[in-house]
Amino acid sequence: MQAKLLIATGNPGKLRELCTLLSGIPFEIVSPSEVGVLSDANEDGNTYEENAIIKARTMAFKTKLLTLADDSGLEVDALGGEPGIKSARFGGRGISDSERNALLLERLKDTPLTDRTAKFKCVIAIAEPGGRVEICSGECAGLIAAEPAGNKNFGYDPVFYFPQLGKTMAELSSDIKNRISHRGQAAAKARVLLESFR
Ligand code: IMP
Repeated sequence: MQAKLLIATGNPGKLRELCTLLSGIPFEIVSPSEVGVLSDANEDGNTYEENAIIKARTMAFKTKLLTLADDSGLEVDALGGEPGIKSARFGGRGISDSERNALLLERLKDTPLTDRTAKFKCVIAIAEPGGRVEICSGECAGLIAAEPAGNKNFGYDPVFYFPQLGKTMAELSSDIKNRISHRGQAAAKARVLLESFR
């Protein structure tokens, strides 16, 4: 029987992507709901690294399972790197992804497209219940579009535009997104790191 690997996220978009990105690893992937826990760690760190480690360690301790957690966000240069580690809370907790995207576009309404450079960043932490933790990361660069386009994937994808492809992240198939995204790069490294936890 394969050892279990808990993917510690309550975000369905992230969970879907991470399950695809990690398919074929020599662990049985389980979600928080499958093991009957809530993914509710306090994300009070100051960096993606700190938050990913907090999430992975909290859930590994709670479930006694090897746990992988991702902390990610969107950094917009014209906003001094905001929303950054606060990406999930930008504009307040109760609002939808499309309201968040509208707020971001409103904040950038006077910024020309060429100055709307942005990056998605992702840090993955893998923690054992005994305390060992390893991290890896990925990032991907683009522009914030003038208006949202596409309905695939999740979060800020409809406003994250790749000038080379002429498409937003939400207009790309999940397969293509996974090959070029911040999470795809971090997950490729995580697959290698996981070998050392077998
Ligand atoms: P957290 O890692 O749970 O703090 O949430 C990160 C937030 O960043 C998500 O809720 C999304 O709003 C945003 N985000 C992270 N990765 C992506 C992505 O691949 N596409 C779109 N938005 C993302």
